[in-house]
Amino acid sequence: MQLDLASGWFNGIRHCPSPNFNTRPTGEISLLVVHNISLPPGEFGTGRVQAFFQNRLPVEEHPFFAEIASLQVSAHFLIERDGSLTQFVSCLDRAWHAGMSQFDGRDNCNDFSLGVELEGTDDLPYTDAQYHCLAALTRQLLAAYPALTPERIRGHSDIAPGRKTDPGPAFDWSRLYAELKERWS
Ligand SMILES: [Zn+2]
Repeated sequence: MQLDLASGWFNGIRHCPSPNFNTRPTGEISLLVVHNISLPPGEFGTGRVQAFFQNRLPVEEHPFFAEIASLQVSAHFLIERDGSLTQFVSCLDRAWHAGMSQFDGRDNCNDFSLGVELEGTDDLPYTDAQYHCLAALTRQLLAAYPALTPERIRGHSDIAPGRKTDPGPAFDWSRLYAELKERWS
């Protein structure tokens, strides 16, 4: 996989374009936000996260879907349990993943961040394949966007404390940093 800087889309991965995005107020890309999601909650590989980000969730299928179907949300990336990577929004555009949020004294983190969703829950360990994929993805993003640094990778819970809990205690930050270092050396 390779990031095309001109378009902000990665080549060699699945593209699943979401209509839920708009223009960044400035071109700044300086924060990476790690999330988790699963639809229905706790079920994996259903294809429903992709449907959700494309406003095509089948509301009759699950009571939870009816609750969330009207939300217009997206992330730039989804990493499924098998490590497969899907892109929904160009890195150059603002995806709608963070909601009310604050980082380093600034509100509205969507303006200047990239969002990556790990398929999972707060408490279930993420897979090896997910860590490998996240590290490979992050490495390319760090190389492409100089304002994005390893110190500026945060969980959703860090930028929306009290409101959001993902990626949860199951996410092993030291493992991510170890894999990033390994791949840098
Ligand atoms: Zn989140």
